[in-house]
Amino acid sequence: MNMENHIIAPSRLAMVPFVSVENMMKLVHHIGLETMLTGLAQAIEDDFRRWELFDKTPRVGSHSDVGVIELMPTSDGTMYGFKYVNGHPSNTRQGLQTVTAFGLLADVQSGYPKLLSEMTVLTALRTAAMSAVATRHLAPRGATTMAMIGNGAQSEFQSLAIKAVCGIDTVRLYDVDPAATDKAIRNLEGRGLTLVRCSSVEEAVEGAQIITTATADKANQQILTDNLVGAGVHINAIGGDCPGKTELHRDIVARSEIFVEYPPQTRIEGEIQQMDPDHPVTELWQVITGAKAGRKSATDLTLFDGVGFAIEDFSALRYVHDRVRDTPYSVDLDMIADPDDPRDLFGMLNRAKPD
Ligand code: NAD
Repeated sequence: MNMENHIIAPSRLAMVPFVSVENMMKLVHHIGLETMLTGLAQAIEDDFRRWELFDKTPRVGSHSDVGVIELMPTSDGTMYGFKYVNGHPSNTRQGLQTVTAFGLLADVQSGYPKLLSEMTVLTALRTAAMSAVATRHLAPRGATTMAMIGNGAQSEFQSLAIKAVCGIDTVRLYDVDPAATDKAIRNLEGRGLTLVRCSSVEEAVEGAQIITTATADKANQQILTDNLVGAGVHINAIGGDCPGKTELHRDIVARSEIFVEYPPQTRIEGEIQQMDPDHPVTELWQVITGAKAGRKSATDLTLFDGVGFAIEDFSALRYVHDRVRDTPYSVDLDMIADPDDPRDLFGMLNRAKPD
């Protein structure tokens, strides 16, 4: 490659496809929201089946009084991925998102990045797909009704993923802020769900076989107390996801059959941070492979203590990498230096000097 060309157009190998927020939204509409949620659920299940192949580590968090910034890396030996994500419950008061994220997928052989993507929208999709996977394996047979507590950014995605993957037809919505419920109902109208506005948690859980909590508060909350939840219910508790941030009363956790992603991370971040360090839990991947039992009886109270694990983000990035290739929904970024002679980085810089 001559120098002129090089400055203007680095080689294709050095270009990294980037999926912006705008393009992610176009990709979701191109694929279809529910099709994508189902596809992501399948991608997560496929990766959970090969769980033992992956490098695993609890995410690396940098905590402050108001929130957390985290890095979530993993690799299956062929590809490497990481996500940068924050969680700042008070952000919405300033018109900012509670959760924003971006992530990268790289080739292990060369170390070269293969995809850079927004992951704020993608995290909502993959978190919903993850809840749907857990619900598919753990909810009582024939469940039709879900209580959705916390009607913020994640809530519509949770509702639609569990509809698409598990076949629910009714969602009972509650939020301390009625405006959040108004928004969720507006967004979910016309999508094949019966929507019931509720004025308390107690009302929302009435008749629900599935309860999903997605509230945001950096505190040990007690959104669900033991007296509110009967037998034969499945709970997805996804809002409690860092130290000092839980949603369920300890008694309900104590009464549940608990299923988690990666115990070393969940014991720090999940509902089970309230329990003894050796409180029994089952790893969801083992239920998916059939190595361990999920729900053992129709009267079990099952709890998916979801905190969000790096492999789910890896699955989501892998899904987007495969789907975006033949679409116009990525742009190439000049992210990797590409000197003609790999050892002449300095010469490449020198030649780019303005006259
Ligand atoms: P959000 O701020 O958009 O929405 C949270 C909603 O919870 C708000 O509408 C708020 O009014 C409501 N709320 C707060 N306290 C409540 C209470 N006591 N009862 C009922 N409603 C209450 O946040 P979001 O982006 O929807 O995220 C929700 C939670 O999920 C956050 O805590 C976030 O950190 C967590 N999260 C978890 C994962 C995961 O993988 N487990 C992924 C993404 C987000």
